[in-house]
Amino acid sequence: MISFLDLRETNSQHLSEIEEAILRVVRSGWYILGKEVEMFESSFSRYCGARYCIGVGNGFDAISLIIDAYKQQGIFSEGDEIIVPANTYIATILAISENGMTPILVEPDINTYNIDPRKIEEKITNRTKAILTVHLYGQLSPMRELKNIAEKYNLKLIDDAAQAHGAVCDGQKAGNLCDATAFSFYPTKNLGALGDAGAVTTNDTELQQIIRSLANYGTTTKYINKYKGKNSRLDEIQAAVLSVKLKYLEDEISARRNLAGQYLDKITNKSIVLPLVSDIHQHVFHLFVVRCTERNKLQQYLLDNGVQTQVHYPVPPHKQEAYKEWNGLSFPVTEQIAGEILSLPLHVALQSGDVDLVCDVLNGFQL
Ligand SMILES: *Cc1c(COP(=O)(O)O)cnc(C)c1O
Repeated sequence: MISFLDLRETNSQHLSEIEEAILRVVRSGWYILGKEVEMFESSFSRYCGARYCIGVGNGFDAISLIIDAYKQQGIFSEGDEIIVPANTYIATILAISENGMTPILVEPDINTYNIDPRKIEEKITNRTKAILTVHLYGQLSPMRELKNIAEKYNLKLIDDAAQAHGAVCDGQKAGNLCDATAFSFYPTKNLGALGDAGAVTTNDTELQQIIRSLANYGTTTKYINKYKGKNSRLDEIQAAVLSVKLKYLEDEISARRNLAGQYLDKITNKSIVLPLVSDIHQHVFHLFVVRCTERNKLQQYLLDNGVQTQVHYPVPPHKQEAYKEWNGLSFPVTEQIAGEILSLPLHVALQSGDVDLVCDVLNGFQL
């Protein structure tokens, strides 16, 4: 069986270094907001090319804290609208709702699965305050188009880069492309911790200070609270693990690109739609997603032939019970994508022989 992703296998590649890092923290006697977090924040901000990095509890909080910080500054207010792609993972949208703001769903481009910039302007109202874009599956959103729209309408541009650590556009990395960027280090992500973890990067000094404070009960100095904050801190053990894994991220992105290139070259079955990759540097292949009109049949066929796959994501947010109020809305591109996509195995422990095998099986599929 070729597994979709086996975290025991991928983490075992740097096992002794990871174990050493964890033991160092255990023995230090310092577990929250110490030098491991400081070190990771400084290496990750340097990696992204951003001025600041704030470690937080998870990717959802990273998004939510950015929005909350703009509310604290009086730039966003409850009831204001934020533009977001309709086919994202629901966390992006929930982080907007949590802040009492209104997510405005916009269809993705069927070829890239990222927000379609041609469909944004028609959704802008006098309550629109931001575009929150998502670099889905590891491919960057159309940044130049999004920047133009944000400038024209004076909107904040925020990105959810939970799937795009290390993607590069015009020489700049994710984390340094927008006003503020949210990262997740959930264990399955390209840079994954051994538990929950996340970060915000930004070049905005005041925003950085507010987010840092909000994530630690709104504290400015010990026991002095300026905001109604929450507890969303990156812990020392996860920071130590992430510092180890960050060293290997560039090599791992190259390995992912090689495997993805192999899929792109060798899948020749006409009933399978390959992802459109316009610039390889803008894609870090968090997921390798193909499309097929008979997706469920294809998925079963692959499983019968020893290949595990997954669907990211089978039910779009507007069709979820959590957003009952949207269930009647129609987003045909998003719905088509949800019905046809299939994520193939792609991870750093996958061998090129495994990819050949998956391609052979795929090429033998008949509709
Ligand atoms: C994983 C993910 C998140 C949420 O991250 P958590 O760390 O699980 O909270 C948000 N957005 C996208 C696009 C993701 O892939």
